[in-house]
Amino acid sequence: MKLVETIADLRAIRQSWNNEIISFVPTMGALHQGHLSLIEKAKSIATKLVVSIYVNPLQFGPQEDFNRYPRTREQDLELCEQQGVDLVFYPFMDELHPEGFESITHVVPPANLVDQLCGLSRPGHFTGVATIVLKLFNLVQPHYAVFGQKDAQQLAVIEHMVRDLNLPITIIPAPTAREADGLAMSSRNRYLHSASDRQQARLLSRLLMTVQELYYQGLETADEAISLAKERVLDESLYPDFQLEYLAAVNSETFMPTCILKEDTRILAAAKVGPVRLIDNVALSEPLHPARMISDASSEAFALPIGQV
Ligand code: AMP
Repeated sequence: MKLVETIADLRAIRQSWNNEIISFVPTMGALHQGHLSLIEKAKSIATKLVVSIYVNPLQFGPQEDFNRYPRTREQDLELCEQQGVDLVFYPFMDELHPEGFESITHVVPPANLVDQLCGLSRPGHFTGVATIVLKLFNLVQPHYAVFGQKDAQQLAVIEHMVRDLNLPITIIPAPTAREADGLAMSSRNRYLHSASDRQQARLLSRLLMTVQELYYQGLETADEAISLAKERVLDESLYPDFQLEYLAAVNSETFMPTCILKEDTRILAAAKVGPVRLIDNVALSEPLHPARMISDASSEAFALPIGQV
């Protein structure tokens, strides 16, 4: 496996791979099973696999956790090696924006995609993501790039960018990898230190899966399903550190809010557990995760029999 830290070295190797099929997985490191599932998928469709590890400062707001974001370089490189990655691009901090990142050209995604959900609490976040991903695309020049549905709004932004800017890259979405209890895997999960943090983090997937189950049971009004899910899952006295930011239903393609739950609806949620911000989502077309059936001592409603809406 090649470890590359400069643009010049990356370009030289990329040029020597002109007859290869290249797949690419951009990450911010602190790799977990979710990342590895993307890497596996990317490996299966190409002759050369590139992974980038870069904690992108452009996508963090001034009050966010850029400095505290987990950095596990040696472990990440070992995992990449084990997964058969051909090249890890691990740029030095100044490599991608040597004159500072405030003054570089930015890629601004369409407002209807980003002026809602995560974009509301993280202004500029998706511009930061799109700008750096486009730079990485231009450097790596992959045929395929694999992105997780865990970050559904980000995936939509990238898909739009590729379409709108006519990039010759196929974006491959990969399903969300979850812990057995339903919690979506995330680099930030390592900040969930106590059992209580962990239990509260799980509320996010429980909310989503409850809406999904209500839909399966025949409830079609989005507002009603969302209110019922909150009623059933959230209990402030039990979960004092859980702060829901949003629980929303949108059209999977356009990301426009939807009033009626349908096959093409995606339910998205964000919340903070103490200082740790987590996001998750499910498509209503997905099968229910087995964790939805796990009863939880703190919520009998969670084990409601099918049909009881
Ligand atoms: P990050 O390192 O958080 O920027 O994520 C890098 C890529 O991994 C993005 O495409 C994410 O959507 C994807 N990813 C993160 N967590 C998961 C997960 N639990 N399941 C699937 N993909 C994930």
